[in-house]
Amino acid sequence: MGKVKGLYMDIQENPFIECPECKDTDRQGKVQSEEFKMTSYGVYEPFETWVECENCSGMGEIERDWENEEEEA
Ligand SMILES: [Zn+2]
Repeated sequence: MGKVKGLYMDIQENPFIECPECKDTDRQGKVQSEEFKMTSYGVYEPFETWVECENCSGMGEIERDWENEEEEA
């Protein structure tokens, strides 16, 4: 006796995962980069800058690659 519960639990898994490229930053969807700028005294110096994360297009999360995971198994 007893009904089977939790049959659909797997479906509720989030299809999106945190983007590994930018999840450790405090700016979602951005990664730190360096940009060289000409300073007032005529030298190029690196400045820290934030650019849109290419891996997730600035979304901060990417769609889980289900097919890949199945192939690896
Ligand atoms: Zn990202």
